Amino acid sequence: MVTSETINDATQTRFFGTNDPTPPWYKAGLTQTRFMPESEKKPDLLEKKKVVIILGPESSGTRNIARLLVKSGFVGESLQGAPKFMHEHGQYDDFDLFKKEQPEKVIFRRSVPHDYEWVDICAIVNFFKEASYFVSCIVTLRDWNCMATSQVNANHVRTVYEAKANIRKSYFHIFNGLNKAGIEYVPLSYESLIQYPTQTLRMLGVELNINFSFSDEHGIRDENAKYYSKFDIKRMLLSNESSWTEMTLKFSHKKKFYCTRAFEHVQLLENGNMTPCCPPWVNHYTIGNIKEQSYEEIWNGEKAQEFRKSILDGSFKYCNKKSCPLLSNPDLRSFDSGLVTEDKLHTIKRDNIRNDILDKKTILDHGPTEVQFCYDRSCNLSCPSCRREVIMVSGEKKKKILDMQDKFQSNYLHDAKDIVITGSGDAFGSYIFRTFLQTLVPEQAPNLGFIMILTNGLLLKRYWDTLSPFAREKIGRINFSIDAATEETYLVNRRGGDWKLLHENLEFVQHLLSTKQISSFGASMVVQDNNYREIKDFVKMCRSYGVCCVDLQIIEPDFIKDLKHEYYFEEWFSKAVHEKKHKNHEELLRVIKDPWFDKYVDADPIEMYMGPLMTLREGRDISQYENNLREYNHINRRLSREIGIKTVPYKLVDKEQNKWEKADE
Ligand code: SF4
Repeated sequence: MVTSETINDATQTRFFGTNDPTPPWYKAGLTQTRFMPESEKKPDLLEKKKVVIILGPESSGTRNIARLLVKSGFVGESLQGAPKFMHEHGQYDDFDLFKKEQPEKVIFRRSVPHDYEWVDICAIVNFFKEASYFVSCIVTLRDWNCMATSQVNANHVRTVYEAKANIRKSYFHIFNGLNKAGIEYVPLSYESLIQYPTQTLRMLGVELNINFSFSDEHGIRDENAKYYSKFDIKRMLLSNESSWTEMTLKFSHKKKFYCTRAFEHVQLLENGNMTPCCPPWVNHYTIGNIKEQSYEEIWNGEKAQEFRKSILDGSFKYCNKKSCPLLSNPDLRSFDSGLVTEDKLHTIKRDNIRNDILDKKTILDHGPTEVQFCYDRSCNLSCPSCRREVIMVSGEKKKKILDMQDKFQSNYLHDAKDIVITGSGDAFGSYIFRTFLQTLVPEQAPNLGFIMILTNGLLLKRYWDTLSPFAREKIGRINFSIDAATEETYLVNRRGGDWKLLHENLEFVQHLLSTKQISSFGASMVVQDNNYREIKDFVKMCRSYGVCCVDLQIIEPDFIKDLKHEYYFEEWFSKAVHEKKHKNHEELLRVIKDPWFDKYVDADPIEMYMGPLMTLREGRDISQYENNLREYNHINRRLSREIGIKTVPYKLVDKEQNKWEKADE
């Protein structure tokens, strides 16, 4: 009988002679399924359920072939459960659903990497084998220059050089993984599909034992032509060597990781909704509503469990990989609260959180340990990135929020170790949050270790002595959000602010820090078009007041979207200098790449946290332009359909100057 061994031996002697360069793992792979004689393979294997795994670099055409397989009766591409808008583009990741349904003919498509994720090919192959599927695989190939340019156009990477490094790494990962898994594969060329679609699909069908159903209208278009007709050779040759090398290095140490937030964190919003993380970072996913549900129904409810499951299975499907500063930085730096790689789980300081993750728990036997208050927007200022006028909640609404706060204060803080006030308004400008800080007693939060205050700083000194002794004792960190290093910029970004008063309060906190009444002092800047040139001076100013850590953030569209006017997208974009289409983006890159920042970024503990700007600094893109534009058009269409566009309080009158005026009614 012909065995895989004898065929391997013969093949090796013919091609390699006696000095066989084939790595042992490759041979181990070959002996499992490759070269199995047809007589042995049929009939039992052919009767099995089939899965076709489609792998290829981003923009290599994996979607084309997936679409054709779907037309031929396969399922799996954006299978049930994916959001509707993803149906054309989504990639299957609902393995629980899969286990339940076990369809006969399945595709599993994965671009490599997909959103910086490098799929574990052996694990996927083994998963399907264990589920008794006959596994075959297609690897998509495409013209090198078109694939690279298409990756840049689709915002997967910034330059063609990065794209090419990415593609090399991708094929290495794919072929290495498939050979380790010992699985047959068919390389499929995009160009063959364009030029000879019928013949290529017939031959592929014979090879994989699939009956492709297709008509002349198979939908495969020549997307290469547009690139070759427009190639800008100069642009393609613009090198960004250092970021290219760094990126390749970073991709090589990808490890499985978890986020501790799902097991410890909760935020309460004004409408009573609770979110498991910062709302834009989790695409506004909520786990329940405090006005309608009990503590237990929310904290261990279905939606909270579902969120934890997405962290434990590594899909992070509710997290926004571009907004979340932890996910957008593949360094996966370990924070007390944040992303932790599998090999570092033992370093999580809180025993209960560490055990939750190790035991893969979705129902927790403790309450939230980290609570952020975001339910009152009241503030003494009206910063243009946040609101149009001063918001000071009053009357019936104030009473309702105070009632909600009472419920929260007495039910949710028992296990709280950290409290953050606030993500919505100002800790001292808000009567509601002030009341909390003035009335907090140890019985309500017996395990409390630390209160962190986020504030514009102007009222801190005035109210400090009115706080309850317990609150004052627990306030460990105060964070000023300033957004400027000059009075001129400050008065624009902190509308209603007072530069002199700010400095008096900075001095006051410096005193609290030096007399050990607090342990940490931070300051933040939302980097935007009118202040990115001041970043360096901002760091210097903060350091002169003893600020321990400077935090740089990007301007999120949600800040402005919530203002609900017709032109929010234009307003956001005119400020979003981190977007690569922004007119001043290149200058921002030069500013943040200045080696002067190294000593702060590399300090231990870190003295400057750059968040998504660190990703930019390393040469990768963080653009959200296309997604936001799509969402903006969608929202505007919906607004005009449902309520008519009457919400146009401001209009952009001068793009260059970023000047906005109240629109005529
Ligand atoms: S990964 Fe990011 S978005 Fe997801 S829970 Fe953690 S911090 Fe939030």
